[in-house]
Amino acid sequence: MQPTLFDSLYTQAQQLDKHDRLAATRELFALPKDMIYLDGNSLGPVTYIAKQRAVEVVEKQWQPDLIKSWNQHQWIDLPRLVGAKIAPLIGADPSEVIACDSISVNLYKLLHVALSIQHESSPSRYKIITQIGNFPTDGYIAQGVVAHHNQALELVYAEETDIIAALDEDVAVLMLTHVNYKTGLMLDMAEITAKAHAVGVIVIWDLAHTTGVIPIDCQAWDVDFAVGCGYKYLNGGPGAPAFVYAARRYHTQLFQPLTGWMGHANPFAFDQDYQAGEGMQSFLCGTPSVISMSVLDASLDVFEPIDMQDVRYKSVQLTQFCLLCMEASDLLVELPCISPSDGQIRGSQLAFTHSQAYAICQALIAKGIVADFRAPNVLRLGFAPLYVSYQDIVTSVRTLSAIMSEKIYLDDDYQVRHAVT
Ligand SMILES: *Cc1c(COP(=O)(O)O)cnc(C)c1O
Repeated sequence: MQPTLFDSLYTQAQQLDKHDRLAATRELFALPKDMIYLDGNSLGPVTYIAKQRAVEVVEKQWQPDLIKSWNQHQWIDLPRLVGAKIAPLIGADPSEVIACDSISVNLYKLLHVALSIQHESSPSRYKIITQIGNFPTDGYIAQGVVAHHNQALELVYAEETDIIAALDEDVAVLMLTHVNYKTGLMLDMAEITAKAHAVGVIVIWDLAHTTGVIPIDCQAWDVDFAVGCGYKYLNGGPGAPAFVYAARRYHTQLFQPLTGWMGHANPFAFDQDYQAGEGMQSFLCGTPSVISMSVLDASLDVFEPIDMQDVRYKSVQLTQFCLLCMEASDLLVELPCISPSDGQIRGSQLAFTHSQAYAICQALIAKGIVADFRAPNVLRLGFAPLYVSYQDIVTSVRTLSAIMSEKIYLDDDYQVRHAVT
């Protein structure tokens, strides 16, 4: 029975792959043979152009041209140039995005900016709202900001499915992650932003699991501020710089607290006193990590000819097809799915729960299917439409099915926890 089931799913997958408009983009990625990578939402794989750029920046720029490279190879302009390449992916103007630092650091800056803008016009607002189950760093940063305001502020965690109800005249800032890192639930960015604005609340969006896989429109949706990740769906490499978006209407009010020299109006004047640079430049703090930023710059070229609507279409199809395979092979009974069943409110991932989720994940990895585990009990599969095929899904589910039916995950080797999960 089982072989026939997977054989027929495989035939179906071959048809879907044949009609996949993005099938050719897989060739741009240097993926290991015999590995199916379902973890591009944690760390995207390297593209051939990014690899080439890494060598080039070291051998053809840093090595021969040394410090002259800052001008000669436009190193100094990279944060702005990379930001401009990210802008179309989020519906922003190139002048509204800059690449720098990490999401955590950028959230710190944005919280201060948003709070100070609110303080000018509505000083009595004291609440920061975020969602229950948000990625921990987002909450940690907000907790730090509250602590440094001598508790004059309050951080409130609200139910993700009922954010609007938490908004009132006491709320200064709403800080939300668009796609939940664990469940993949996608919030309605346009609607929540509009409802927040109606009660005078400024919204900061975390686009970590959005940028490069879900098209959004910051300008049309009147989005105030956002941050996003360079190393997930943008494939910029481990620790790649993150980015910040700020709507142009705020560009004269961007008083961020990390007033380092790269954000100064004229860093090379070496003035004694800080004077913020114009617009997005003021989000810079210290020297950009040029090698990393160059690699991200190159990896973004993959998106240049791509229509994000095609990416979203395939993403929804991939997750739907995976659910179909899981259902057909009876796996959903043992591994219940906690991601939304409606593709329209689901990001590009699926989360399944099991008390042995960690060991199951290790067993999958040992068989060449790279997924990840999120504490305490989630097996998370990420579907990056630029290189994951429908056939990959059948192979993965078939492998998972064998691991479950033969209880391979109980093997001692799969029970040992590593530092990074
Ligand atoms: C991955 C991720 C981050 C990462 O933050 P860094 O500071 O860039 O390491 C932040 N928020 C969310 C929602 C994430 O998924």
